[in-house]
Amino acid sequence: MSDSPFERRTRAAQARLRERDAAALALFPSPNTYYLGGVHEEPGERHFFLFVPASGDPVFVVPELYGAQVRDATWVDDVRTWVDDADPLAVVDDALADCGVEDGTVLLDPTMHARFTLDLRDVRPDCEFALADAVLSELRVRKDDAELDALRRAGRAADAAMRDVRDLGADAVGMTESELARYVEERLVAHGGTGTSFEPIVASGPNAANPHHGHGEREIGAGDPVTLDFGTHVNHYPSDQTRTVVFAGDPPEGYAEAHEAVVDAHHAAVDAVEPGVPAEDVDAAARDVLEAAGYGEAFVHRTGHGVGLDVHEEPYIVAGNDRVLEEGMVFSVEPGVYLEGRWGVRVEDLVVVTADGCERLNDTPRGWRV
Ligand code: ZN
Ligand code: ZN
Repeated sequence: MSDSPFERRTRAAQARLRERDAAALALFPSPNTYYLGGVHEEPGERHFFLFVPASGDPVFVVPELYGAQVRDATWVDDVRTWVDDADPLAVVDDALADCGVEDGTVLLDPTMHARFTLDLRDVRPDCEFALADAVLSELRVRKDDAELDALRRAGRAADAAMRDVRDLGADAVGMTESELARYVEERLVAHGGTGTSFEPIVASGPNAANPHHGHGEREIGAGDPVTLDFGTHVNHYPSDQTRTVVFAGDPPEGYAEAHEAVVDAHHAAVDAVEPGVPAEDVDAAARDVLEAAGYGEAFVHRTGHGVGLDVHEEPYIVAGNDRVLEEGMVFSVEPGVYLEGRWGVRVEDLVVVTADGCERLNDTPRGWRV
């Protein structure tokens, strides 16, 4: 077996193609192209494909100006390029022929732009086309060692940034949410992250009652609960953590009790994680605690979401999802309580399912006092 995690994943994907009697995968710049090919590119207007046949070796077809970059990044030997004044579909036709794809089912990257999908249909009128979700998401849902290493490092960078945020203490009073968000971004990078994995949430006072408030010009006041939900990337893998803190002064009435209930719910859900447990049971573990404490109505969202090359992916930790947890799955546990017009609390860690329980990817204090 190869030392390249990308090649190992590709061989596993090919085995699944054969099981399904599909001819090939056709990928387009997306997390899937990175997952199998090691090439991380934004989708553009030029023809750029990774073809993975059910057997044999994959082929990249990319614009000439990406040629060197792709050869540098990938384990795939066969990287074919086309120049701007040539017909990319002639190169695509040859590549598919060399992959042995004349008819049969081609599984498409779900985010492939329609015009490229139609071009592939023109080049291979005898093929059927379907989505590659089933093959790829089933592989991606269990993280391998290289992925777990990146996720752990991204988690550590987020944790270090959160410690810096707490250290602001009373200095955070008077900052606007947006100023604090910029500080978070700067600290994530200082601790080894690449950019942010999503626009940071810095929601203060009544804004925190809206779970997806971004950040705005509201000034943080003494006694305001402030929800900080953010992450960064390491090797394209994200972190995602939330803490809700009060930088100075006393929190509003009822807040401390709600925060304690959310932390209890968070721990109860994490304690429920182990292989063989349905995802919905983890949601129920958090929800039962909040319902018993009288906050059932105020917990307005699912308990968590899977995290990988996409910051929201399978498995979803939600009522009705009876999917059984397996070793290597990574997801968030993020119960919250939201009181409209007043305040909100959310506490979020990422966890990895292990052989007999789980490992947390975040480990900073979860209390509201900074
Ligand atoms: Zn989050
Ligand atoms: Zn999350």
